[in-house]
Amino acid sequence: MATIFSRIIQGEIPCYKIAEDERFFAFMDINPVAVGHTLVVPKHEDDYIFNLDDDEIGAMMVFAKKVAKAIEKAVPCKRIGVAVIGLEVPHAHIHLIPITQEGDMDFKKEHVHMSDEEFREVQKRIVENL
Ligand code: 5GP
Repeated sequence: MATIFSRIIQGEIPCYKIAEDERFFAFMDINPVAVGHTLVVPKHEDDYIFNLDDDEIGAMMVFAKKVAKAIEKAVPCKRIGVAVIGLEVPHAHIHLIPITQEGDMDFKKEHVHMSDEEFREVQKRIVENL
């Protein structure tokens, strides 16, 4: 069965899309730790990021860098933190999270609640900075 991220990539489930190329897809996390929290995923479905081959994991980081630079310009922050957890969705993904301090990367703290309008507004700002 396709993962929820594959279904998002295929357009079966809606998302706030940020960027896409032949191999990778970026979209905003639906339950963000911070405003601008974005996920980067390979279109190729694999449960574990360190199962990706060298070329794919390298290219994924280059794609994530482009997205991170756009988030950095769109959202007030010091830099973009990077996390790989992958315990919830069995489809490799990188979390890109705008941070100003270490605690901003804490997945256990209360997440940010964003309306559809707020998601669209942040999405627009990020996409404009790609
Ligand atoms: P992890 O697998 O790294 O522990 O967490 C998976 C992440 O995917 C979570 O931050 C969660 O909010 C996000 N997520 C799960 N389902 C969806 C979804 O349907 N849409 C979006 N945009 N994000 C999702």
